[in-house]
Amino acid sequence: MTQELIDSIADQVAIVRGLTWRSRVGWRVVTPDEMRDLIREQNSELSEQEKADLGRVARLLKTFRLIPPETDLEGLLGEIYQSEIVGFYDTDKQELVLRSDGDGVGPVEKVALAHELAHALVDQNFDLGELKRKIEEFDDSERSAAFEALVEGDASVVMIEWGWRYLDSNEISEIEREAGGGEVLDSAPRAIRRWVEFPYEYGTEFVFTLKSSQGWEGVDAAYEDPPSSTREILHPDKYLTRGRSAGVAGTPKAAEVEPPPRTPGCDTVLEGVAGELDTWTILEEFLAASRAREAAEGWKSDKFRFEDCGGRHVLRVDYLAESPKEADELRSAWSDWIERWSSPEGNYPHPESFSPELGGGRVSGTGSRVSVILADDLSLLERKAA
Ligand SMILES: [Zn+2]
Repeated sequence: MTQELIDSIADQVAIVRGLTWRSRVGWRVVTPDEMRDLIREQNSELSEQEKADLGRVARLLKTFRLIPPETDLEGLLGEIYQSEIVGFYDTDKQELVLRSDGDGVGPVEKVALAHELAHALVDQNFDLGELKRKIEEFDDSERSAAFEALVEGDASVVMIEWGWRYLDSNEISEIEREAGGGEVLDSAPRAIRRWVEFPYEYGTEFVFTLKSSQGWEGVDAAYEDPPSSTREILHPDKYLTRGRSAGVAGTPKAAEVEPPPRTPGCDTVLEGVAGELDTWTILEEFLAASRAREAAEGWKSDKFRFEDCGGRHVLRVDYLAESPKEADELRSAWSDWIERWSSPEGNYPHPESFSPELGGGRVSGTGSRVSVILADDLSLLERKAA
């Protein structure tokens, strides 16, 4: 890697993205071992709060057999990022960190460089660090996921367009040969793969759609009024037609769905919004892919509460669907999901986590409202559903 190469790709990236550099970006090259250490370091900088949140998410996923019980979620995510990341842009230090195995710079390293330079360029123009801090103040997983998808989608589209413009067909075939996830990601549980890939895969489609309808100006404007849910990323037309929302610094919209009530004698482990992405991902574990996707598309809003009741668990999700018809689809999808999930003959994605003490679930609601209750203990289910 040389300053000359970085300067020339930086100039090209600015042309592709239609923005100007404010200053030259710092960069350093690290060995694959050093990169692994850096990522481990970043993970160890997760706050106690973030680690605890991840632990609670893991508990929910294990209770409902979406990941095997022995999964160390924090460790697995660390391994995935350690194996996948060839470079990153450090928003705090405003520098590029690039991995090199000493074999020189091929097209794969060049497109990765274009991607990271695109992050740096957008940061210099819109201050990604500050925006991210504002978004995190909402403490809303849906907003955070949507913002990450905008950021990764932006850099990915720049990378792709840079490749079309500045690489020859041999170089593009070389990238295609090496494309795809690494072994660690490929063998991760499907739900984890979906969450890791979401910002890149669907963020890219989102930014392409925004750009083809409004040009890069439309993408620039999205930093002032970011997408606020995974639904808007999955359906860019919903973002394009929604009108301006509260914006980054605005107050969130009034809740359309109240959080499910607390169950007496139980402790809340986790509460929040499931969103379209999580609903889709979870439904897909026991339903055909197209049905899961379609049912989740009826999502408009939701709130969930996951509780520990003396060692047994109960989850309640209250949805507001787009329409009564969409609510019917969502109810019927969850009913079939529960039937398979709670059946001993169920086609478990993780048979090793099968427990003979099966729980069960109930689906209810009228009009556009849908309530789903899942419990790993049937008496708890009766209590909660009563
Ligand atoms: Zn990126």
